[in-house]
Amino acid sequence: MTVNAQRLDAYVVGTRAKFEDLLGQMVEIPSISMDPAKAQDIRRMANLAVQVLINQGAEAQIVETGGYPIVSGGWTTGANHPTVTIYNHLDVQPAQEPEWKQEPFVFRKEDGLYRGRGATDDKGPALSAMLGARYAIEQGVPINIRVLWELEEEIGSPHFLAGLKHHAAIPKPDSVVVSDTIWIAKGRPAMPYGLRGLLGARVTLRTGSKDAHSGVTGGAARNPLAELMEVASACVDAKTGKVKIPGFYDDVVEPSKAEIKSFLRSGFQVRRFKEAYGFHTLRTHDPAEITRRIWAAPTFEIHGLTGGYHGPGVKTVVPGQGELKVSMRLVPKQTPEKVFALFKKYVARLNPNVKVEREGMLHPFKGSFEGPYVEAMKRAAKAGFGKEPAFIREGGSIGAVVTMQKAWKVPILFMGLSLPEHGYHAPNEYFDWGQASGGIKAFAHYFSELAGMGKR
Ligand SMILES: [Zn+2]
Repeated sequence: MTVNAQRLDAYVVGTRAKFEDLLGQMVEIPSISMDPAKAQDIRRMANLAVQVLINQGAEAQIVETGGYPIVSGGWTTGANHPTVTIYNHLDVQPAQEPEWKQEPFVFRKEDGLYRGRGATDDKGPALSAMLGARYAIEQGVPINIRVLWELEEEIGSPHFLAGLKHHAAIPKPDSVVVSDTIWIAKGRPAMPYGLRGLLGARVTLRTGSKDAHSGVTGGAARNPLAELMEVASACVDAKTGKVKIPGFYDDVVEPSKAEIKSFLRSGFQVRRFKEAYGFHTLRTHDPAEITRRIWAAPTFEIHGLTGGYHGPGVKTVVPGQGELKVSMRLVPKQTPEKVFALFKKYVARLNPNVKVEREGMLHPFKGSFEGPYVEAMKRAAKAGFGKEPAFIREGGSIGAVVTMQKAWKVPILFMGLSLPEHGYHAPNEYFDWGQASGGIKAFAHYFSELAGMGKR
């Protein structure tokens, strides 16, 4: 199906006031999932979301999960048409940063910028996708479009799997689009097709019941911090970052040359990367190597070493115990279960008194880098934003993505609309009409591309 560009342009212009009104209503509900005191606001958000979908001619309902609910809705056009599910979330990060120049939950509209917590993460993209869907449905595009709006994404989606078990309310689609990611640079759409996984661990050693005086016991007493540092440096080469746990890299799938080339097309700049994160120096300054390392290579990081004395000056104690806080970012096809077993076994060999406990884990995700869905996404992004997208990976993890992949085993693609300058998880968050209008168009095109592919 081809999209009539003029008609779509007119629709996008005509729908702007509605977009702004709805985004304003949504931003002004402080749906902070991390804050138990905001439980009523999360409910209000869910109720509003259902009403918004119904007003767009969709059916919609609240699906209970045991935690915060999921809003599920959509437009059904025919059983023989393909079904796509669009995933967004309507909960937001807290907004207590002192740098806020406005009330974070008062919506402000300025010259095509939309200010307020949640504007870009992820309420603006959710509404853009919804209005793209509305257009496709109005034009009679033969596709069933489902909307899945989560309210616990910012706390790691603890009840998302429970929600997906409501098969009647949340039916399995033929494919999924997740719209909750950030481009690398303005003007160049960037679509991730992979996410790293995560494995956290606490590594502890207790050699005494309390701290002791080094003048009295030092030399005979064991030092748990020194022993933990020895374990840490046996696990990772501090200068290069290379992980030394035997077998750690066995299942890693290296990115292809084409993938690295695609990473570099994203607009990634070493200078901007250093500036954004305040780095003085890096382990490498080669952009191909940096993007490979942050998106497609596993890591072992030490986040903290506790125990002993941390106050001013020096206090001559021999600590009775110490704790090392570590985590590993994992890539396809590593699994946190296997890596944890390797790590635990290795540490036991290094130092049998050290205790290793798992602290959270997420599987890595890899979608398609090629194929008909990717081609459809390329054409849609180009139609919406005037430029072919770069296919990249994300260094972080989105729990809901892996959950959907496991539950449904269907293609999952990403069409994020946020820009780095929008302030994801940061003070003075905003979204803008350029990204919203391009997003509405790109989604409308994508739905018509999917319809053209038929039920697969
Ligand atoms: Zn988000």
